[in-house]
Amino acid sequence: MILPVVNSKKVGIVMKMMDADKIYNESIETLKETGVRITPQRKAVLNYMIQSDEHPTADDIFKALSSEYPNMSVATVYNNLKLFKETGLVKELTYGDASSRFDFVTDTHYHIICSECGKITDFHYPGLNEVEQLAGAVTEYDVSHHRLEIYGLCPDCR
Ligand SMILES: [Zn+2]
Ligand SMILES: [Zn+2]
Repeated sequence: MILPVVNSKKVGIVMKMMDADKIYNESIETLKETGVRITPQRKAVLNYMIQSDEHPTADDIFKALSSEYPNMSVATVYNNLKLFKETGLVKELTYGDASSRFDFVTDTHYHIICSECGKITDFHYPGLNEVEQLAGAVTEYDVSHHRLEIYGLCPDCR
């Protein structure tokens, strides 16, 4: 018997799509539980955030979706992102410049940022919980969270 040759790259993409579907459905459920009305535009912004690994700004999302949703404005996108943030679905990344970037929260990951073009890339590393515990213990602060960013030149800029 000849076994079919499995294109592992293709399988990877299918897997990613299935994950995205599952994450999307769960996110919609989360929003419904908080009593939020699910509009087509809201769905589109949510879906964009799940699919994107680019940490988009509200403006990026608006530009990508505006041809499909002519009634959409940057304000609509921003309000949706704020709502998703309140629900814990997205994180707002502010780095002191004008426009915030948004990141869909899947699991704990850290960011490496290109100091030339500003691109932000995810990488996975176990959460540094010990640092939080130590900081809380030695300062008697009630620790809520921490941020860690690595800087360097991305493959395109180096
Ligand atoms: Zn770069
Ligand atoms: Zn990220």
